[in-house]
Amino acid sequence: MSDSHLPFLGAALANPYRAALVIGDSICRYRDLLSVSERVAHFLLRGRTDLKEARIVLLAPPGFAYVAAHWGIWRAGGVVVPLALAHPTPELITLIADADPELVLVHPKTEKRARPAAEACGVPCADVVDSLKGPPGTRLTSLFAAMPDAPPLPAIAESRIAHIIYTSGTTGQPKGVVITHAATRHQVESITRAWEITRHDRVLNALPLHHVHGIVNALLCPLWQGATVELLPRFDPDEVWSRFARLRVTIFMGVPTMYVRLIRTWKRLPHQRGEIVGWSAGDLRLTISGSAALPARAHQTWREITGQGILERYGLSETGMVLTGPLKGPRAEGHVGHPFPSVQVRLRGDGGGEAAAGEEGCIEVRGPGLFREYWRRPEETAAAFRDGWFDTGDRAVRNGPGGYRILGRESVDIIKTGGEKVSALEIEDVLLRHLRISDCAVVGIPHDEWGEQVSAAVVLTEGLPLPVARLRVWVKDFLAGYKAPARFLVVDDLPRNSMGKVLKDQVRDLFLQAP
Ligand code: AMP
Repeated sequence: MSDSHLPFLGAALANPYRAALVIGDSICRYRDLLSVSERVAHFLLRGRTDLKEARIVLLAPPGFAYVAAHWGIWRAGGVVVPLALAHPTPELITLIADADPELVLVHPKTEKRARPAAEACGVPCADVVDSLKGPPGTRLTSLFAAMPDAPPLPAIAESRIAHIIYTSGTTGQPKGVVITHAATRHQVESITRAWEITRHDRVLNALPLHHVHGIVNALLCPLWQGATVELLPRFDPDEVWSRFARLRVTIFMGVPTMYVRLIRTWKRLPHQRGEIVGWSAGDLRLTISGSAALPARAHQTWREITGQGILERYGLSETGMVLTGPLKGPRAEGHVGHPFPSVQVRLRGDGGGEAAAGEEGCIEVRGPGLFREYWRRPEETAAAFRDGWFDTGDRAVRNGPGGYRILGRESVDIIKTGGEKVSALEIEDVLLRHLRISDCAVVGIPHDEWGEQVSAAVVLTEGLPLPVARLRVWVKDFLAGYKAPARFLVVDDLPRNSMGKVLKDQVRDLFLQAP
């Protein structure tokens, strides 16, 4: 039996002439992905029969080469280790050393930073574009031609590792999250069922491809179904609006900062063009947000522009997708809905038992889509589970038909002040309702009297000054006294990672360094 049994290849084999990827104005069909990924697999195997879970680091921008290499690594029996393109060389060295790969696949756009990092770790490098051509010495008649004389590719047991995805490191050192082929299949099946993704969908993917959001939700899910993915090399709001205006895209998945930037760009458009592109986005079957909290103001403005509510979902690298807003029916802003199919969720209250409706607690998750372990970190793996349930470290409350509302990460977003627990996300949401605040991050700063002091870094809307004294008064109309920030700091920009998540350690440093 060859690798053709791999479940993700099923739709490709059944729909060879359908468009798998649209990149710029070029179309790549499933047949092309199959033949080129086979060449990548033989390039990696170099005469061997199976990579036997050797790790291959993939550092290529979203595009045909990335997807063909990803499939090729899997088909050769390897483990895909996708890394963020934005990492500077020292960070790459740490991650490559941790992953201990057999090879680093680089791209002309990543080579300058990646090659020295691979060399420092003593790991060979290859150009991903060369890998598409097959093993060295292969005579090419055409890049996309089938390889009739090639030996069969290995059969891969589902219990084997598919990915090692590094956590974003917003709450400590990045850890490699080990995900098997079986868990990946469960994650894909759960999402495609919940959101009814079919071969007739066309997903616009402008996400980075080193994270479950971009890889599993917005790439593997549609490809598994035989749908089409429009891949953008990077997020560009003008390009996204013009893709919407072509009326072909059916689903857009983004992180909150993307929606905020799309709204900002929309506001600068001439009135008539704005109306046209706004309504064209309203024609999408689904617009989805996740990976961080979507501000209520962004949710409302998006609805005003497009006539459509954004579906919010919640998940982690370790668990895949956990909670989702409804596919049909009203979407409550600030709520992330109910569990995905085959995912079990419980809320552990502060007393240790299950939290009642309306009571706060920590989200714990169980199910077949969970990760297996943190790569070579048995103690951290053991500490992450309690009675077989994965402790997400996120606090939430369950209330009303909207389901769960995320309050933030226990370690960074829950501020303990004067004996009260305060959600930074709730305060950020209120601050963002102020028209003169375009961005903000709330953190707790150590304080002798209060334990922690609620402190807000704010970015002001261009050209609109806002005296801090006025802000202090305004905020008290919306928040109880103990939640109202005691300190404000006006900054030009907030430190964020490539997924758009605010780096709260760095925000805290801004306060500690401020006079
Ligand atoms: P990552 O593993 O990088 O995807 O990060 C997962 C973390 O992102 C979670 O533990 C949450 O803290 C946060 N997160 C993901 N989705 C949401 C959401 N819809 N709302 C608020 N926070 C979210």
